[in-house]
Amino acid sequence: MAEFEKLRSLVEQYTRKGGCDFYRNLYKLSPAISSLKIKMQKEWEALPFVTKEDIQKVPIEKRIFVPWDEVAFIRSTSGTSGKPPVFFPFITVPQRPASPRIQKGILTSLPTPTSILESAFEKVLGKKIVLFLLDPRFPEESVNTALAHGIDSLILVPFLLSAVAKNISGSDRMKIMYIEFHGDHAGQEVINFTKEQFPNAAIVQIYGISEIGSMTLACGEASAEHPGDTYHASADIHLEIVDPDSKEKISLLPGAEGELVCTTMYGPIAFPMIRYRTGDMARVVESTCKEHGEWSFTVIGRKDMDFIKIPKGVLRADEVERVLRSMRGKVSDEFELHYSEHATGEESPKIQVTLHVEAHSGVELSELADEIASKLRVSPSLTYAQGVERGLYLPLTCAPLQKLDMPGKRKRMVRE
Ligand SMILES: [Zn+2]
Repeated sequence: MAEFEKLRSLVEQYTRKGGCDFYRNLYKLSPAISSLKIKMQKEWEALPFVTKEDIQKVPIEKRIFVPWDEVAFIRSTSGTSGKPPVFFPFITVPQRPASPRIQKGILTSLPTPTSILESAFEKVLGKKIVLFLLDPRFPEESVNTALAHGIDSLILVPFLLSAVAKNISGSDRMKIMYIEFHGDHAGQEVINFTKEQFPNAAIVQIYGISEIGSMTLACGEASAEHPGDTYHASADIHLEIVDPDSKEKISLLPGAEGELVCTTMYGPIAFPMIRYRTGDMARVVESTCKEHGEWSFTVIGRKDMDFIKIPKGVLRADEVERVLRSMRGKVSDEFELHYSEHATGEESPKIQVTLHVEAHSGVELSELADEIASKLRVSPSLTYAQGVERGLYLPLTCAPLQKLDMPGKRKRMVRE
């Protein structure tokens, strides 16, 4: 209930007349209403969501909730979809999980200016920590500068880890005590590689989105048994899970899945998010974690990129990853799934799936493909192999995964 009190005062604060009208307009409040006062949880759940498109429609100067001279920095997410970029101005950085292992300095690929990060870390850790930005174009120079000043921590997107490791000598690697991954999910292979390279480091994964930043605390450290991708909402973020189609709130029972909806509860903030649809799908792990007393979740992918509807089922990136992880002796959990439809002259086109994987040497790709097809579920009652037997899909094939030329995010599901 204490949480609801906070949410209700946020709604009142950000819909007040005379301030920024963004949420007043979104909620279609009449000029006669001085601010929106909600009294019940149900009213909160009936509040319209805010989406990236809603934000893109309004020019940046019309959606700033603090005086302009208090805006510390402006971050723009890339306009890769051909739409104009979305700007998300902050004036505070949300609290992040502080590890007592961070004592001296951090080399980071976070897109926030270092001076702002330094003051944020100082607040959280109670001491001054020096931050060095990793320039992905010059990893060697970035690493050397940071090492010369003394660092004990790395906060990186996972795909930059190997570039950093390559430029740190064995003895210096021993000095790294804390590694935090952000920006992208690190699979078990990446975690194991990181453990090997930096044996003294605690490895933690953080989930966040570029529009908001870090939104979670890790439930546990990553280990050889678990990639550490179970999260709790951090104290200043309120998270809900909703059905992406019906938009109904989903009860937080283990196994329940839906889209993550986020509300920023910290402030002052230049642009507060109230019920922002993240586009990320999550699954509830526990209703109440024994250690932390709160519900926990894992992120299973992008709603529009990691789930492909096929006849009688869905191809899911997280399911492919689960199957690959169960076959660890034969293949890594890195993959790219290529999917296409083939006209067969029958009523509906047949589905063809080619899975690009990193097989260990000596493993036959055709045998691997058969085993994956027999394990890969497209619905609770149907495996891909059973779908092939029923004539729904063409047999699954495997191909070698091409190494990326440049470090970068790999698309896990590709429609051809
Ligand atoms: Zn926990």
